[in-house]
Amino acid sequence: MFIRSSQHVDSYYAASTPALQVPRAPLQEALEVDVVVVGAGFTGLYTALNLAARGFSVAILEASRVAWAASGRNGGQVILGFSCDMPPFEAALGLDGARQIWQLTQDAAAEIRQRIADHAIDCEFATGHLWTSVQQRRVHVLSDWQEEAQRKWGYSGLRMVDKAELPQHVGSARYQAGLLDRNGGHLHPLKYALGLARAAEALGVRIFENSQALHYREAPDRVEVATEGGQVRAKRMVLACNSYIDRLAPHLQRRMLPVGTYMIATAPLAPELAQQILPSNLAVSDNQFILDYFRLSADRRLLFGGKCTYTGRTPAHLRESMRADMLRVFPKLADVPIDYAWGGHIDITMARTPDFGQAGNVYWAQGFSGHGLVPTCVAGRVLAEAIAGDDAHLRLFSALHHRPFPGGEVVAGMLQVLGMSYYRLRDYF
Ligand SMILES: Cc1cc2nc3c(=O)[nH]c(=O)nc-3n(C[C@H](O)[C@H](O)[C@H](O)COP(=O)(O)OP(=O)(O)OC[C@H]3O[C@@H](n4cnc5c(N)ncnc54)[C@H](O)[C@@H]3O)c2cc1C
Repeated sequence: MFIRSSQHVDSYYAASTPALQVPRAPLQEALEVDVVVVGAGFTGLYTALNLAARGFSVAILEASRVAWAASGRNGGQVILGFSCDMPPFEAALGLDGARQIWQLTQDAAAEIRQRIADHAIDCEFATGHLWTSVQQRRVHVLSDWQEEAQRKWGYSGLRMVDKAELPQHVGSARYQAGLLDRNGGHLHPLKYALGLARAAEALGVRIFENSQALHYREAPDRVEVATEGGQVRAKRMVLACNSYIDRLAPHLQRRMLPVGTYMIATAPLAPELAQQILPSNLAVSDNQFILDYFRLSADRRLLFGGKCTYTGRTPAHLRESMRADMLRVFPKLADVPIDYAWGGHIDITMARTPDFGQAGNVYWAQGFSGHGLVPTCVAGRVLAEAIAGDDAHLRLFSALHHRPFPGGEVVAGMLQVLGMSYYRLRDYF
């Protein structure tokens, strides 16, 4: 379980988002709506937007602030596909079902750009994602995916970048090759989430901040959710709580392990230095098991992410150890100060597969396993469609089975630490 706060963490994103100051009012009434959504991260916001566009009345209960958790703290990297890649989908759904999932992710990547344009969201979107290989022996992972994406999933948006061409995109000797996806990109996630929230409100969605859903009760024709100051009676409920679901739905919480991951932001770089390290302004992530991911902000800071912890505690000397990781990639940043360091939680499932589902009048989407900007957009569409009466896509996701972590959070955390040590060694050697 994690400490909630009514303030955004002290991140570069919070510091660069002026619209944060005034919180929305908490729920202090008895409300009746078609759908109550718990959680105002990307999953909750997309679901609410899609439902409101179809004419449903929707209320969102947010325990803290809009995008207070992962959605407002992440790397901002827009990457197609799910964390688990395609094999689990193909195994569970066959080729046709898996093709539908891939199509949903392509649609979602396009939807993000469309929403930015339609809702006029100033979130500094930039085009292009580069997936890099640190090790020569794993370059084939990139080329294999390019070949599979084309052959099996009909996706031709990927292009291999060899070692000779890499300096046009990343000024680091660390990488052996890259795979460029022009349909990926990067954005300021907190500004984007707040833009989605404003768009939802323009469609009539009511968002209540500092309104934690404490418990809910199901009846055959409705769900009743209580907060400290009020309650909502709704025909359907959507749980979009990610790593913070804990006591509200323990049966869902057991299927996911919250894992800490971290970011730093440098001071703004001189234009020549920014041009040297990321000349084409791509988002970059590598293919190590514990990956590094980075990009430039609109004011030319390097936003660098990585590391994983399973204890619920922030690592000691976070700023220094993240800086050391960054210097491994870009030694020429040795003299650049680090202005911000922060972390957040990702929600991993046993097989890293997304956990979307429905039981009675309760719907949920969780288990994005660290890769959520595009997948939460898929979730918002799939849940809204199902609530509106077409559950064909939700049934695809429901075919993936989710086992609880053995021994609960503590034992699972310890097992993951062991697993991570193994993968860290494997990456090293
Ligand atoms: C540091 C970091 C870097 C990342 N980088 C990337 C990246 O570059 N690209 C990418 O694709 N993904 C990235 N991710 C993952 C991505 O951010 C998440 O998968 C995604 O934001 C999940 O969105 P969500 O809406 O499901 O959950 P969250 O954004 O976590 O939102 C859940 C919300 O539910 C609220 N809530 C929980 N319980 C209750 C309750 N009982 N009552 C009311 N409200 C409640 C919480 O307060 C929270 O606001 C990163 C994550 C982190 C932490």
